[in-house]
Amino acid sequence: MSGYFFSKDSLSKEDRVLLFVGNRILVRNGEFLWRRDQIAEEFIAQDTMIKVSDGREDFLVTRAPAGVESFLDAELSSLRSLLFGGDERAMLVAGKANQLLDWHASHQFCGFCGEKTVPDRSGQALFCDACQHAFFPRINPCAIMLVVNGPRILLARNARYRTGLYSCLAGFIEVGESAEDTVRREVKEEVDLNVGVIRYYKSQSWPFPSQLMLGFYADYASGEIRPEPGEIEEARWYDIHDLPAVPSAKVSVAGELIEHYVKTMSSSR
Ligand SMILES: [Zn+2]
Repeated sequence: MSGYFFSKDSLSKEDRVLLFVGNRILVRNGEFLWRRDQIAEEFIAQDTMIKVSDGREDFLVTRAPAGVESFLDAELSSLRSLLFGGDERAMLVAGKANQLLDWHASHQFCGFCGEKTVPDRSGQALFCDACQHAFFPRINPCAIMLVVNGPRILLARNARYRTGLYSCLAGFIEVGESAEDTVRREVKEEVDLNVGVIRYYKSQSWPFPSQLMLGFYADYASGEIRPEPGEIEEARWYDIHDLPAVPSAKVSVAGELIEHYVKTMSSSR
């Protein structure tokens, strides 16, 4: 694979650019990719030239100063609103861009010796010449699980999120755990149920800020639902034909887990 940085020599007027102002993205008429010659040079921070690819094309990702939106007749959009707009390309490109900028900003100095880091030869890591450590972008694996019991599924409302949606349970994979260990532990902690067979379904990159969501089904085995105080506001069994508001299957693996299960159960009747 190619590296994460643009070299100054390879820059051209034709480059397509994604501009971040703080943690928001510059958007005009719904378009978040700019041609480089649409933007004055002084608005492009030349020291951070991250490259993001969607598999076909490379895009230059950089930061612009606050207030640039008024010069370009543009607006600032949060990553979330861009992604929840349902645009898959935005999800991929802007999601990666956000993760790489965050990695670059937080690894400017070596965590071992404190010296300044620079991109390594491959462009895939930030490197400390003084102590020869390489720092690669890091993703954090999470398990997300739909607990199922025949025609019923367990949905919960998280106490911290105010979206009003009911969704699967989820949690970070802790040091030393397998993803299946996490599924069992999270279900036990969050709703006090025991699960039996666990089946992997699919994964999804989730750039808030840099998670890899691993989606599972977990068969209910035993126990009564007891929501974890402070964490789970409400949790209960729902009949698959009578569901509350759930996340969209277009943007989240949680939504896909639910939709896929409902379809499978409905067609097996
Ligand atoms: Zn070092």
